[in-house]
Amino acid sequence: MSTKRIDLHIHTIASDGTWTPKETVENAIKNNIDIFAVADHDETKNILETEKKAKENNIDFIRAIEFTCKAFDKEYHILGYDLDIDDENVQKRIKKTVQNRYLRDTKIVEMLVKNYDFDVSISEFEEFRKKPMTGIPSINYLKEKNIANDLKTYIYYKEQVKLSKDEDLPDVEEVIPIIKKAGGVAVLAHPSYYFPKSVMPTKQLNYFKDLKIDGIECYCNYNKPEENFKYYIDYCKKQGLAISAGSDCHGDTYKDRKFGEPYVTLDMTNIISRMKNYKYLQSE
Ligand SMILES: [Zn+2]
Ligand SMILES: [Zn+2]
Repeated sequence: MSTKRIDLHIHTIASDGTWTPKETVENAIKNNIDIFAVADHDETKNILETEKKAKENNIDFIRAIEFTCKAFDKEYHILGYDLDIDDENVQKRIKKTVQNRYLRDTKIVEMLVKNYDFDVSISEFEEFRKKPMTGIPSINYLKEKNIANDLKTYIYYKEQVKLSKDEDLPDVEEVIPIIKKAGGVAVLAHPSYYFPKSVMPTKQLNYFKDLKIDGIECYCNYNKPEENFKYYIDYCKKQGLAISAGSDCHGDTYKDRKFGEPYVTLDMTNIISRMKNYKYLQSE
């Protein structure tokens, strides 16, 4: 039995987290984390630097990414672990998603200018987005302009913008094979996200299983109350899927998503046994 503490879902400033690689590792030490993964949204920029710093401190590190994609007409997140981050298709997908996000941001502000009386303009937004910031510029802009102070309001405006298929997020059917072809393990992130205080119905879990997902993030803050962890674990055991765990910590942003919470030890998971390239740094 291994009591090593594990957290496979951390964001850095490469996406919308607040910590640099150095600060991420400092926080891993502070929280007594033995194994962790950086999984930035559609970004791999901070992987190598964090890995180097983690190894220097004798902490196990797993390379990862969190792909944004679409399923059931909504945004879903798929985690890729232990994948080749230099893989051509991985980097192509990242580039396209980043371009599309830029375009979508512009279109959101254009829509607001056209349809509403808010004090916003494209030229002002163009200047605003040049500033260094973490997170999505249109979210930050709408917050600063007091138009959308919470995510729900932001989504209300965002959904009024229609995108072509090529401009939109990739389908989950596209993303899972990209991860697997890059030698990685594909995991469904925070399945209860759309089912607060409840669980994703089996029918929907089956949909991801049929798309050859390798595992599920059974332990995560979204899946609380903790009784619900067992629902996902039982599903994984029954279907031969891997059990994973992650806090979805964004640094200091969300107080309910702390590094290492939920408290999970290595023996409560089995995801690492699916990873082909990863080797433990610390002895078992
Ligand atoms: Zn996510
Ligand atoms: Zn995340």
